[in-house]
This record gives sequence, structure tokens and C-alpha cells, in this order.
Amino acid sequence: MAQRQSKDQRSYRTSVVIVGTGFSGLGMAIKLKQAGIEDFIVLEKAADLGGTWRDNTYPGCACDVPSLMYSFSFEQNPNWSRMFARQGEISDYLQHCADKYRVRDHIHYGVEFTGAEYDEATQTWRVSTADGTEYVGKALVSGVGALHIPSYPELPGVQDFEGEVFHSAEWNHDFDLAGKRVAVIGTGASAIQFVPQIAKKVAKLHLFQRTPPWIQPKPDRPVPEALQRLFRRVPLVQRAARAALYWTLEARYFAVFNKHLGKLSEHLSKRYIRKAVKDPEVRAAVTPDYSMGCKRILLSSDYYPALNRSNVDLVTSGVAEVRKNSVVTGDGQEHPVDAIIYGTGFHVTDAFDHLTIVGRDGRKLQDAWRNGMEAYLGVAVSGFPNLFFLLGPNTGLGHNSVVFMIESQLNYVLSALRGICRGKVAQLDVRQSVQDDFNSEIQSELGDAVWSAGGCRSWYLDENGVNRTIWPGFTWKYWLRTRKLDPADFEITAARGR
Ligand SMILES: Cc1cc2nc3c(=O)[nH]c(=O)nc-3n(C[C@H](O)[C@H](O)[C@H](O)COP(=O)(O)OP(=O)(O)OC[C@H]3O[C@@H](n4cnc5c(N)ncnc54)[C@H](O)[C@@H]3O)c2cc1C
Repeated sequence: MAQRQSKDQRSYRTSVVIVGTGFSGLGMAIKLKQAGIEDFIVLEKAADLGGTWRDNTYPGCACDVPSLMYSFSFEQNPNWSRMFARQGEISDYLQHCADKYRVRDHIHYGVEFTGAEYDEATQTWRVSTADGTEYVGKALVSGVGALHIPSYPELPGVQDFEGEVFHSAEWNHDFDLAGKRVAVIGTGASAIQFVPQIAKKVAKLHLFQRTPPWIQPKPDRPVPEALQRLFRRVPLVQRAARAALYWTLEARYFAVFNKHLGKLSEHLSKRYIRKAVKDPEVRAAVTPDYSMGCKRILLSSDYYPALNRSNVDLVTSGVAEVRKNSVVTGDGQEHPVDAIIYGTGFHVTDAFDHLTIVGRDGRKLQDAWRNGMEAYLGVAVSGFPNLFFLLGPNTGLGHNSVVFMIESQLNYVLSALRGICRGKVAQLDVRQSVQDDFNSEIQSELGDAVWSAGGCRSWYLDENGVNRTIWPGFTWKYWLRTRKLDPADFEITAARGR
């Protein structure tokens, strides 16, 4: 177990410091336990574990990849009650994983990681935290999450608004929406889940849309009790069902991102809009004018029907200003509201800007990423030895479960950590040339792909329009590349005496 130096020093020494307790950080902790490595600490700034599924408690919050696939392969859950589990059930699943694999004792709650500095002399990371406690580790693993820091748009005058304001990821459950006039800003993945839920309650819902998403019906339904029983009794059946689902989702990549099949998918979605949305003006407003797949494709069977409600007003003229009790649109119209809810997503490509991470020769991560964030396999950055990113640059997905990507990374990082924790390896630093070749390769694949050339602007792209978030291909290709860590990709320093 990790050693606390002394109460006054407020300093811990350990082999591995992990940051975060979502699928990434928790998964890393479990993998270390499974490998028989006990000397690690997990830092979590919140008071509980669970990441995305602890924070996002808005009405209707659920995964949009079937739960059978949106879970760890080594801890398949036969008890999912629905095809697409809701937030509470996924949160419970993560709690269960923490208990079953006995990682709770390793977690330090309420500890906010603020940065880290690599000490070449001792080949360790000195990790700093908001409350001044220091952690010294031979390796540092970031599982801080890609969709974690809420993004607020700059609405002129919002500081003078007298009503209630909150973000979907920080839902205020104490505020009763019943009978209220509510402005929802944004029509992304979270908004399309909570809009149908709150539309039933509120007196009036003004839904401010900048760009309509492509939406396909969500084939969600309860998992029959008999099937759950079968999964419990014959786990092999569940494994087979998961494998079949995996390949179906992989085929989705083909169906959406192949130009011809993409047109067919667009045609089907437009047909769905025609069927589901009654008002021709609303129908036109929710029909995207960019290629499908350019932004995340969303699944919902109740969002379009919610737009048919007489108390829901889709507004497309843009927010010009916020006044004490209203939102004013570009066309000068004033919409009186009691609350504003942001469904405006997260900081993604700038998510590391507030952390000070200093690698070899005093080089800051921000400087290394001045032209955009990149890492070898999304995991390792040259000049930052023994630092590993989970769900790092260009490892997000638009068509399958990111838990699959995270697990591929966990296995890859574990092979590096084994050597470090067992005292064989002092330092692994990915070669700059390897990192450069990898990134040239993926950027050339991404260059004319739908995310960049599809006629939209999305959170997949950084301020220079470069895609820093998406893995450009099938996930099995990523799995193949991360299955084995090739020592030749790294400058490796053996531990003294080895
Ligand atoms: C509402 C919503 C629905 C989603 N649905 C899907 C889906 O259906 N399918 C899919 O593939 N993906 C989905 N995603 C993406 C989702 O974020 C990932 O699937 C996954 O949960 C990411 O796990 P993570 O552990 O990497 O990050 P997170 O779950 O974000 O966890 C990060 C953890 O790190 C902690 N942390 C962050 N910074 C610090 C710090 N400085 N110091 C200490 N602790 C810190 C946070 O408190 C948090 O606990 C969804 C995302 C959202 C927001």
C-alpha cells in the first residue's frame, strides 16, 4: 500500500498515481489489482466515484450504446434492465465494480489534481493537488475524462438574469420545473434526452437550437426477465450476444461513414423526421444540412414527438441577449423565462488547459500541444515519461462503445506499468518520431473524412479545425495496435541494477 510520509508533510509516495474514477480510472485500478499490484493511489476530486455517471443526473440520462457493450468485458452484467441502461443503473454498475475488485481503499476522495512535474533525477512524478497534498509516483495515469468540464456559452447579460440557471451535467434537482417557463440552450446529446422528460412538466419550453443533430430512433426496450436469467445461468450466451452486438456496431461505422451508405442513412433519418414531426416549419428546422456523422449521431424515439407539444417552441434565431426575466433572440423577440438550462456540452479539446503538467527539461504539456493535442495511440506523449492518458487524443468514437477503447488502453498501459512497478523499468518515453508518424497517419485519414469535410463544426475539432478527438476507423484496428506494447516505440531506461 502507498506510504504517507507524515501527517504534517501531507505527502504520499506510491508506484502509480491514477486520476479519476470513471470507467477509465476505475478500470486502471482494477487492472492493477488483477495483476497483483497493490501500490497505487486513485485521486478523485468529487466525494464519490463514477465520473460521467455520477455527475450527469438529468432526467432521461442514459447511454446511447447498448449496455451489453457499454460495460467492461471482464465484468459483464447479466442484470441490465434495459437495452440502454439509465444513469442510475450504470452508476450502480461502477459502484459494484469498485466493490467486487476491492479498489475503494485506494481512492482518495475530494482531492483535486492540479498538475504534475517530472523529476528526472528520481524518475518520478511529483503530483500537486488543490489542497496542497503532494503525491510522488513512479508513474501517472490520467483518467480525467473527455466529457467532464461543462461548457457554458457566453450569453450577453446572463449575469443579470434573476431566474435559475444550471448546466445539464450539474442538474439542480431542488428546483421544481413544474409550471415554469424554461429556456433550454442547445440540442445536443444531453438535451435530446432531457427535453422530452421536462417538456411534460413545464408550462413553456423555449428550445434554442443552433445546429440540428442527425437523430435515429432509439431501439430501447426492457430486457425480458427470461433473457436476464439466461445470461445469469449461461454467461457464454451473453458473451456471444455481446460479440454479435460489437460487430453490428462496427458495421454502423461502415453504414454511416461510407459515402454511399451514408446517403442511405440520411434518407432513412429524413423519413423518420417526416413521420415524427408534424409542423412543416419545425420539420425543416430540425433537418440537418450537413452530412450525417459529421457531428455525433444521436438516438432518440421521444425527442421529435416532444417537439409536437403545444408548450414546446423551437427557436432558431439565436440568442442575442439575456435580460432579468427573459431571453431575447436575434430577431428581437423576447421570451419570458423562469429558468435557463444549458445543454451545451463540455470542454473537450481544451480540457487540459487548466492543468500544469511539466515533463522532461521543464517542458509544459501546453507547449507540447501548442498546435493541438496529440499522443501516440492517444496514450503517450514524447518528453513526458511514465505518463499515460486514458481516452486521450483521437481515441473517442462516434459509432461504438468507448469502454472498448478504454479497455484496449488499460491493457496497453498495464504492460508498461508492470515493468515500472516491479522495479525493472525506470522510465519509458515514447519516441518523438513514433508519435509524429502515428499522428501524420491518423490526421491524413481524418483529413477528408466526414468529421472535417461533412459541412459542420463540431466539438470533435479544435480551434484550428483539426480533429483531435475521434479515432478514424474500426475499433478492432485500435485493439490490434494496442494489444502489445512494442518496446521499440519507446526510449526505455532500465532500473538501476537491471
Ligand atoms: C451524458 C453522457 C452520456 C454518455 N453516453 C455515452 C455512451 O452511451 N456511450 C459512450 O461510448 N460514451 C458515452 N459518453 C462518454 C463518456 O464520458 C465515456 O463513455 C466514459 O464515461 C468516460 O469515462 P472516463 O473515466 O474516461 O471519464 P469520466 O467518466 O468523465 O471520469 C473522469 C473522472 O475524473 C475525475 N476528475 C477529473 N478531473 C480531475 C482532477 N483534476 N482531479 C481529480 N479528479 C478529477 C472526475 O471527477 C471524474 O470522476 C457519455 C458522456 C456523457 C456526458
